[in-house]
Amino acid sequence: MSGIGLVQPTGPSGKFRAMHAMVLNRLRTPLEWTELPDRRPGPGQIRVKITACGVCRTDLHVVDGELPDPQVPIIPGHEIVGRIDALGDGVTGLEIGQRVGIPWLGDTCGSCPYCRMQRENLCDHPVFTGYTRDGGFATAAIADARFAFPLGEAGSDASLAPLLCAGLIGWRSLAIAGEGKLLGLYGFGAAAHIVAQAACWQNRSVFAFTQPGDVTTQIFARSLGAVWAGGSDEMPPEKLDAAIIFAPAGALVPRALKAVRKGGRVVCAGIHMSDIPGFPYALLWEERQIQSVANLTRQDGLDFLRQVPAMGIVTHTTAYPLEKANRALGDLRAGRFNGAAVLIP
Ligand SMILES: [Zn+2]
Ligand SMILES: [Zn+2]
Repeated sequence: MSGIGLVQPTGPSGKFRAMHAMVLNRLRTPLEWTELPDRRPGPGQIRVKITACGVCRTDLHVVDGELPDPQVPIIPGHEIVGRIDALGDGVTGLEIGQRVGIPWLGDTCGSCPYCRMQRENLCDHPVFTGYTRDGGFATAAIADARFAFPLGEAGSDASLAPLLCAGLIGWRSLAIAGEGKLLGLYGFGAAAHIVAQAACWQNRSVFAFTQPGDVTTQIFARSLGAVWAGGSDEMPPEKLDAAIIFAPAGALVPRALKAVRKGGRVVCAGIHMSDIPGFPYALLWEERQIQSVANLTRQDGLDFLRQVPAMGIVTHTTAYPLEKANRALGDLRAGRFNGAAVLIP
């Protein structure tokens, strides 16, 4: 494990170079535009000159201090697209100038029981980008080379950024939801707008649940192939095989259980959720299941990114200058855009 906080290295060859970042100095306060000395990659690490970084709901949970053991100061952001501009000792298979993506999973220990059973997403000693290691709301970032995904040259930087968490976690959630054809998506934000396209490509029928009355998002969901869109307080026209909950609202769990058929599965995809209210056992009875999804494995990322071109996924992004990160977070919180927000340094 090589978690680093706000280290203070000198620039390459001793020459001072500055990077800029939007730093969370105290929980529940706005990020602050900060100039920092540029950082040198350690052994096995790369430095990436960032060209785009997506804004994820998890960034809101980081800012709000809703995740365990919050660390400040921290630079949030874990949907990083950029080009390698420095290689640490021992890095192989990557080169200067190459475009890469840096996801949420920043490093794992490789030796705990979960790492050894190919479940590195559950590692006992993980490093998370933008949470326990500085992330991508910046002009540059340090990352572990083994956890960076080569992105090739197809697609714009901004269009790729949301794939690195919304897409990856969404893809893992979709796999865990099982093979069922009738799929409900609760909370139609960045992740759902990607998953809907992947699910349609898999010939599933997507049922999109939004905030009650959010007609704009319901129209957006239909435009991406949803066969039905309505409020989360509505029941779908037929029982679902599975539902994925992306919204951080525990009250959706019993509602989704009510919407799935016997033996159906409800997948909770978020890292944080408000408390789940009590509900009658009858909603879980008949072998319905509730399962959460935590983090990602590198294999999830490789599987997903390899198939993105075939799936024809088009991300809908709203770009903000890096220094407007607080506005982007506020707009995400208020649901003021559809698709995903992306910060551009
Ligand atoms: Zn581990
Ligand atoms: Zn995320």
